Amino acid sequence: MMASRGCSRDELLQSMVMPSSALARPPISNFNVGAVGMTPNGDVYVGVNLEFLGMPLNNSVHAEQFLVANLRLHKETELELMAVNAAPCGHCRQFLSELACASTLQILLPGPKASRRSSRTGDAPSQYSLADLLPMRFCPQDLLGDCPPPLLLQEQKLHLQFTADFCANPRYAPWVDGHGSAQSTALYKALEQARESFAPYSNCPAGVAIVTRSEQVYAGAYLESCAFNPGMQALQVALVDAAIHGLPRYTDIALVLVAEVPGSQVQHAPMIRLLLQSIAPVAEVIDVHLTRG
Ligand SMILES: [Zn+2]
Repeated sequence: MMASRGCSRDELLQSMVMPSSALARPPISNFNVGAVGMTPNGDVYVGVNLEFLGMPLNNSVHAEQFLVANLRLHKETELELMAVNAAPCGHCRQFLSELACASTLQILLPGPKASRRSSRTGDAPSQYSLADLLPMRFCPQDLLGDCPPPLLLQEQKLHLQFTADFCANPRYAPWVDGHGSAQSTALYKALEQARESFAPYSNCPAGVAIVTRSEQVYAGAYLESCAFNPGMQALQVALVDAAIHGLPRYTDIALVLVAEVPGSQVQHAPMIRLLLQSIAPVAEVIDVHLTRG
């Protein structure tokens, strides 16, 4: 694409930012953000911001978070370069610190805006490292030590299964047995996403699968931050999956499966139910009980 357009890698990404931002869904701020990222292989992914009417603002998905969730949903393991139409907020800078590739990530910003908003003087470069944007940051190693487990975008393999009680439930047993139904597909996607959660700080994983009225299935995993608040709920990641694949309205959501370990220190279903009450009030929410091992 770069050769056919006669532009550099940086120019290509920057040219895609504004068209991408048009896909954002920010009904509260009306401030569209687009984040376009490139992997070391040259594959390009997009992120946009999502806001949810009726819910506190901290339920919003930021464009940079959407981009990371998009990369993860496509099994990408590294983000090399990212272009954004506005300087990433502190929340996103902290979230990006979870990436295993955080030390090599480069971020392209509109030069004049960045220089106006920052304390830099003179000619500010348009390309920044995360260390430029968030020096002296609190990072995964502060909680996990110098030899941390796999970080964000690296493979996560948690050992989780359905509980015996869940499998024995007469409503859910046919889904567990698997007959190709949307519910069965969603059940195993929720389990898969829970196993692939990034939850090194709480060790309380969760996976969510959404089934729409037309029986489309979308799914997402819980993604933590060492600073806790900048993480992503599993439902937010599942909504990213839905947005990527064109779900037109949240009210098309008919069923949501929340897979987690009952009794863990962090429980995900209560917040997920609250968000769904606002965006998809008729959706049925089912707790899928998991056990470790
Ligand atoms: Zn942000």
